[in-house]
Amino acid sequence: MSEHSADTHDLIRVQGARQNNLKDVSVEIPKRRLSVFTGVSGSGKSSLVFGTIAAESRRLIDETYSTFLQGFMPNLPRPEVDVIEGLTTAILVDQERLGANPRSTLGTVTDGHAMLRQLFSRLGAPHIGGPTAFSFNIPTTKVGGVSVTESGKKNVIKQEIYLGGMCPACEGRGVVSDLNLRAIVDESKSLRDGAILVPGYKADGWMVKGFSESGLLDGDKPIKDYTETERHDFLHKEKTKIKALGMNMTYQGLLPKLREAMFSKDPEQLQPHIKAFVERAAAFAPCETCGGTRLNESARSSKIDGLDIGEVAAMQITDLATWLRKIEEPGVAPLIGSLLHLCDKMTEIGLGYLSLDRPSGTLSGGEAQRTKMVRHLGSALTDVTYVFDEPTVGLHPHDIERMNKLLLDLRDKGNTVLVVEHKPETIAIADHVVDLGPAAGSDGGTICFEGTFGELAKADTLTGRHLGHRAALKESVRTPSDHLKIQGASSHNLRDVDVDVPLGVLTVVTGVAGSGKSSLIHGSLGADGHDVEFVDQSAIKGSRRSNPATYTGLLEPIRKAFAKANGVKPALFSANSEGACPTCKGNGMIYTELGFMETVSSPCEDCGGKRFQALVLEYLLGGLNIAEVLDLSVAKAHEFFSEGDSKVPAAAKILGRMADVGLGYLKLGQPLNTLSGGERQRIKLAMHLGEKGGTYVLDEPTTGLHLADVDNLLALLDKLVDAGKSVIVIEHHQAVMAHADWIIDLGPGAGHDGGQVVFEGTPAELVAKKSTLTGEHLAAYVG
Ligand code: ADP
Ligand code: ADP
Ligand code: ZN
Ligand code: ZN
Repeated sequence: MSEHSADTHDLIRVQGARQNNLKDVSVEIPKRRLSVFTGVSGSGKSSLVFGTIAAESRRLIDETYSTFLQGFMPNLPRPEVDVIEGLTTAILVDQERLGANPRSTLGTVTDGHAMLRQLFSRLGAPHIGGPTAFSFNIPTTKVGGVSVTESGKKNVIKQEIYLGGMCPACEGRGVVSDLNLRAIVDESKSLRDGAILVPGYKADGWMVKGFSESGLLDGDKPIKDYTETERHDFLHKEKTKIKALGMNMTYQGLLPKLREAMFSKDPEQLQPHIKAFVERAAAFAPCETCGGTRLNESARSSKIDGLDIGEVAAMQITDLATWLRKIEEPGVAPLIGSLLHLCDKMTEIGLGYLSLDRPSGTLSGGEAQRTKMVRHLGSALTDVTYVFDEPTVGLHPHDIERMNKLLLDLRDKGNTVLVVEHKPETIAIADHVVDLGPAAGSDGGTICFEGTFGELAKADTLTGRHLGHRAALKESVRTPSDHLKIQGASSHNLRDVDVDVPLGVLTVVTGVAGSGKSSLIHGSLGADGHDVEFVDQSAIKGSRRSNPATYTGLLEPIRKAFAKANGVKPALFSANSEGACPTCKGNGMIYTELGFMETVSSPCEDCGGKRFQALVLEYLLGGLNIAEVLDLSVAKAHEFFSEGDSKVPAAAKILGRMADVGLGYLKLGQPLNTLSGGERQRIKLAMHLGEKGGTYVLDEPTTGLHLADVDNLLALLDKLVDAGKSVIVIEHHQAVMAHADWIIDLGPGAGHDGGQVVFEGTPAELVAKKSTLTGEHLAAYVG
């Protein structure tokens, strides 16, 4: 930081940070500069950047609300840190999905849709009204009858007046919800043989008798043989009073009954097996009335240049820009200018292949993050601290340069930019690098290096030593045992793709963002009944209450061992059951939902976040109580359950697998919702390690991994393949490509410029040919 003065106004100063694994860390970060935080996974980067700096900024901002408002908000705990000086407002640009709200699209979250509506209300013909007439989120209100003016004059309104553009059939969602009947009823069976597949509906149980003894249905006839009336009564009948089994009862068809009892509930509140059923049985179908456009007829009838707003929103952004440039109406020039600005920014950031009507819930983590970035690039705010979590996720080496430029743009607008990142290309543009380590968890949490990129390259830290690290191509590749044939794949942008995916080897699927990798692998392998296991980074449902111990099944043998050692019931040692602290119901945290803001959490004061009632903590195993066991790291617990009084072989086995996937530093009781995407993916992978054979798909498993961690990941992938599994990896990391037995490269570009297989073969052939973008970049990397 030699070139900056030591003026405290130009620094964010952190003293004595102890959040999570941080060991009394003090650090000075230059303001209005780009700082990159490096270190192995679990070293403490997030704890410093998100958990300390961003969290304290957020807390201080909350404190500026009026005492009245604060009364509704729980006090955010102060991060464990002695002093932080020089903070500015922090904005997190992370990979959290944009929310699965069905009303939210790329257009609504970027304002692009609002601008299109303005455009149609000005230029659309026939003309019908203001911008709201084109909004699928505003209902079609028919105003009829009489209106009264201020002076008392009555006007008779004959016409229907459309206020909004919402399709009335699907209420603007584009899809209608549906139940997947096959998951609910086995039509080949009769009621008494167990035709109803819903949890709790046993063939001889009370719930099923309500149907079979109702007098309306024949309990011994297979459902497929029901008459139309029987079928209607069984599935759809509205509530009716009947007399059956000698009692007055209310009869209701199965589907409305399930809708009330299960499908209208918050899934997180349901018992796990019921939740699993609900997820299986809920289905969506495109709305027939609007053809999925979400818009009512009137909104769809107004056109510019022959296209309606739905068609325009469905265009790929690069095409939308071309279309907009052709509109030469002076009256809308400023509006067109703003729309083009948005399109250009989206394209620059590598999202030009998306369309504005894309539901925001279907964007990948990296796409969501880049969308948020576009919003901030347009912001007039300056002197903000932007905090990025691995902004290069999902980006081909070819796209990283553009991303780098945007990070520098944000800095040059007078902002402080903090980036957690592993890719050498992005570390290289930092004004300042902070390297955490030396290792993960309790072996990390210190600062190993601070300085410029040039200095880091010479520093003797894990990151410094790995910067110039280049993977070599393998001497020889494995021979496939068989092939999975994909034929005529055409979902999304795929152009009738035929490709053979080799089995029994490590296959890497490459291509720029939007080229069609996920569409090919998830779409085709997922749909065709191939027996493929997807090990992704998606959130684990119900993850507030779950932790690595509950999720991996590890807690079961541990509870039993505790129960046996103490002569009590196993259920006592579950924070989701009898052992729970009554105040927080075993959450360890108190969650407050604030309708208008994000949910906020604060630790439970009764159990101190330990989640158990005091009594339970008196029972010991090998000298530790259950809360202390859950506070152990995987590596420590592995030792603990491997020998002595506390030997539990079943637990040690699972822990060994977790250590194998590089999660030795993780605490057993850490809530799953605090895990990074990469950690979630590796924990899912650990669950499959014990299985024989199988085909596994991993989407960007290097996310969150330091260059040094990547070597461990490759060793793990080799281990899986050598154990007879087929592994298919979607990756941008050149070290993984170089390590592949086979590469399938998609392209040549993104969206409709992609969707083809541009190369299939070994990494050596790809490098020798250099015929694709991926080939060029890999050649430069191994060269
Ligand atoms: P990095 O960002 O470098 O991967 P983190 O800061 O996420 O590392 O994690 C550092 C250590 O703190 C790890 O051992 C991790 O398991 C632990 N940790 C992270 N978040 C939490 C949390 N919310 N509660 C408890 N421990 C946590
Ligand atoms: P990659 O995995 O290579 O980044 P994708 O398969 O995600 O590429 O995307 C290929 C094309 O398919 C892009 O134009 C993208 O916008 C489109 N696409 C992907 N997912 C969806 C979806 N759920 N709905 C509509 N279009 C999609
Ligand atoms: Zn509709
Ligand atoms: Zn509690």
